[in-house]
Formats: sequence, C-alpha cells, structure tokens
Amino acid sequence: MASINEQGNIQACCPECHGALSTFEWNSKDKIYGSITRADIAESTCYRLYRCAGCGSGALAVVRFTGKLWPGDTRQLLTFHSEAAERLPLPRDLPQSIVNEFREAEKCLDAGCLRAAMGLFRSVLVKVLRANGYVIDRNLPLSHQLDTVAEDGIITKARHRKAARVLGHDIIDDEWHEPPRIDLEALRRFTQRILEDLYEDRAATVLMLRDAGRLVNEEKNMPVPVSAPPPGRKFFPQSLQ
Ligand SMILES: [Zn+2]
Repeated sequence: MASINEQGNIQACCPECHGALSTFEWNSKDKIYGSITRADIAESTCYRLYRCAGCGSGALAVVRFTGKLWPGDTRQLLTFHSEAAERLPLPRDLPQSIVNEFREAEKCLDAGCLRAAMGLFRSVLVKVLRANGYVIDRNLPLSHQLDTVAEDGIITKARHRKAARVLGHDIIDDEWHEPPRIDLEALRRFTQRILEDLYEDRAATVLMLRDAGRLVNEEKNMPVPVSAPPPGRKFFPQSLQ
C-alpha cells in the first residue's frame, strides 16, 4: 500500500523493480517532474509526476494537501499509479521464460486486464506441462490435462480435485465478458502451486518424470537421457532453455 511522507515522496512497490518496495520522488537535484494543482480555499488537489529512485520509471499520484505550498502542512494520498501488487514467490529453478510470463500475467491482473491475465496463466500451465513431457490436447479442457500429472504423483489428489474448479471454464473463446477477479486470484495461486510441484524440488521431480516416461525429446520423439542434476546445477528441459 503506497504511503506519502512529509517531503511529499511516496513509498510503494514498483512494478518495474519486480515489486520491490521503492521510493518515488517528485523532484531531482535540478528539476521538478511536473504537476497540475487545483486549489481550493481549505485544501488543494495535486496531480503529480513521480520517478522511482530505483529504476527511474515514472508514476502519477493524486494528493490532497493543506497549506499554500507543496508539499503542504498535511497530505492525503488519494491514488497512485502504477503500484505493483503482491508478487507470489516462484521456485528458484523455474525457467526464466516462464517466470516472465507469470509476472506479465500478474501485471495484467494489477491493471484490471482480467481476460488477458487468465490467458497468460493458462498459457504458463500449458507450457510447463509440455516442457515436462505431457501431451496437451487442445480439444480437452485444461483441467483434464492434469489427470495424468496426478496419476504420475507429481501433484496431489487434493490439487487435482481443485483443478476442475479453478480451470473449469475457459472463457477465452467465449463472447467477451469479464471473469470475476476472485477467480483470477484463485487461478494465480493454483498456477503457482503447480509450478512449485514441478520445480521446487527439481531433482526429485525429474526422477519421478523419468520413471513415468514423461521426459522426452519432442523433436526426435526419443527419450532424453536424464540424470539427476549435480548439486547447484539447474535442470531445464530443452524446450525451455
Ligand atoms: Zn522501480
């Protein structure tokens, strides 16, 4: 939650700093970034540009303040764009391309682009399942694609049961309507859990996938010689490297 201090600077989580808490400043040594102020008798409303001290990206705040001159005697932060919402932790061994796609889905969620977020979270699931040797049939619901994952013991029965509820209805091909935000929050957390199941203890998961005959070279349709990675080395399926 963004907050404003006595100097008029704002503390908020920056989307361009991967959600880290940062200070947004309204001026630098030699310039003020700009503002429009609507002055009333008792208080003024200021639309002000800010800059992240960490990465330099811009932001806009609407601040109500009392007193004749900015930053005034008292300040109330009305709105602040753009502020990153909470970012879910992801497994360290998760391929960067999947991390990027998951984070982009979270950005869509921040911006209220719920259908876009839904499409990206589902895309993350399809890509990691493919990368781990599962055949995706586009004609079947995505929740059904997790049947064999559960049979292989990669995900728990409880997670499998939840899949039908969370992934049950794919609205992307429907006429335009906005899915409830609560459904997107559930999908985000479910996707994160699947990523943890597949990548949190990667060496153990690789052994389970190998036992199940899932890790195959997609180009040659031949089994890939997989061995547990040595300590400190990450295992990435070829299709995600
Ligand atoms: Zn930043």
